[in-house]
Amino acid sequence: MTQPDAVVVGSGPNGLAAALTLARAGLHVQVFEGADEPGGGCRTAELTLPGYEHDVCSTVHPLAAASPFFAGCDLTARGVRLLAPMVAAAQPLDGGRAAAIRGSVAETASLLGADAGAYRRLMALLERNAEAVESLALSPLRSVPAKPVAGAWFGALGLLPATVLARGLKTAEGRALLAGMAAHSIRPLTAPLTSAFGLTMLLLAHTTGWPVVEGGSGRLVAAMIAELAELGGTVTTDCWVKTLGDLPPAGVVMLDVTPRQLLEMTGDRLPSGYRRALRRFRYGPGVCKVDWALDGPVPWQNEACRQTVTVHAGGTIAEVARSEAAVAAGDHPEQPFCLVTQPSVVDPSRAPAGKQVLWAYCHVPPGSDVSMAGRIEAQIERFAPGFRDLILARSERTAADMERYNPSYVGGDIAAGAFTLRQTIGRPALRWNPYRVPLPGTYLCSASTPPGGGVHGMCGLWAARTALRDLRLQRA
Ligand SMILES: Cc1cc2nc3c(=O)[nH]c(=O)nc-3n(C[C@H](O)[C@H](O)[C@H](O)COP(=O)(O)OP(=O)(O)OC[C@H]3O[C@@H](n4cnc5c(N)ncnc54)[C@H](O)[C@@H]3O)c2cc1C
Repeated sequence: MTQPDAVVVGSGPNGLAAALTLARAGLHVQVFEGADEPGGGCRTAELTLPGYEHDVCSTVHPLAAASPFFAGCDLTARGVRLLAPMVAAAQPLDGGRAAAIRGSVAETASLLGADAGAYRRLMALLERNAEAVESLALSPLRSVPAKPVAGAWFGALGLLPATVLARGLKTAEGRALLAGMAAHSIRPLTAPLTSAFGLTMLLLAHTTGWPVVEGGSGRLVAAMIAELAELGGTVTTDCWVKTLGDLPPAGVVMLDVTPRQLLEMTGDRLPSGYRRALRRFRYGPGVCKVDWALDGPVPWQNEACRQTVTVHAGGTIAEVARSEAAVAAGDHPEQPFCLVTQPSVVDPSRAPAGKQVLWAYCHVPPGSDVSMAGRIEAQIERFAPGFRDLILARSERTAADMERYNPSYVGGDIAAGAFTLRQTIGRPALRWNPYRVPLPGTYLCSASTPPGGGVHGMCGLWAARTALRDLRLQRA
């Protein structure tokens, strides 16, 4: 076997994005993956019954749709189709009501009654400058925004806790909508920066929609691996890397792992200041996820919930805030905020004719091994009476199971690190270039670097660009 120019540990979306960026630049790349299948948080499997294709982790791909990395992959030519629902996301309330995002800011505002004007004022500037704002949200936050006014508006509002931003909205629907979006931060809604998550998620709902990959998220990974193979790169599975010494010698070492694993892999080879900084890195709460095979569509009371893939089942802003605060305090909420995805709404290929796949997760304290299936099912049943009668089979992963499945989900933290203020400014540590590890030719490219969690490949792209720049400097 020829000696590689670059080795990559981990084949999640970021590891593969880094591998592809390096391979496109002409490097010979070898990827080493511990699991028996590539893809990290982007795999699809029959978790319940034969013929039911479940996304083991990610399903909803607004970040991939907005990602400059994926824009540079000819996904269509590789058979990847993104399917967006009519309603980007919905949040049911008791009594059959719901907040929903349909189409543009103006269209959604028109559904928000007394909040129409406030919603337009909040979102219109962001929508007009969507490309620049999305690019800011997917960057390492060290460059001047392309549209400074929109960037400043996004930054100033984004810093606010979602509970404060929500004071500008009057209706239960408007406030619940913002709360559900902000809860993607996996932080208490009273924490700074939760509005940045809310605004980014809302904006993406208006621009890219919230699509799924036809046939399952695993197809996105298959397309990336196909291009890598064409460029001469390889992916070796069933190969856990314990120390950097396990790797073949290469000029570039790209690590799609989190700070805890980086510390384990490098022992005392890292400078002590960097080691201390990595030890200060904080992981967030975990998730408990349940997948179901269903006998038919979920009977949501509200029609908008039947037309979307993503349902935020958590009730009012007060309820969502209570649920997230309980998790932050180390408790398991009785009525958890649940993120529900129903890809079958737009993609019938996931299940036998007339049947559906569905998943939902809720946030739980780190490392929890408590089953939340009953509480999650009760929340869905609350807004969709008759749901339980449709369950043909279920598969559950607690937060502890999540980490067993993928060691990058430390304590079940699917974002590879908490989005505290400090870890948003400096992720994994406060450095001008967060991708460089202070060892020759070594880089971190996982979601523990900016811009963080989600399937966008941007951590891998930024890390690989850093490595290529360093190589050019070495050769100059
Ligand atoms: C339940 C769930 C739902 C999600 N939903 C969405 C969603 O709808 N949309 C979205 O955009 N994002 C979603 N995410 C988040 C998304 O999946 C992750 O942010 C993304 O996968 C991170 O990519 P990554 O490449 O940084 O890491 P990962 O995808 O975690 O990949 C890391 C890879 O490295 C491997 N690895 C780790 N250590 C080693 C080692 N020592 N040796 C060899 N291999 C190693 C792991 O096995 C893994 O394959 C979800 C995640 C989960 C868990």
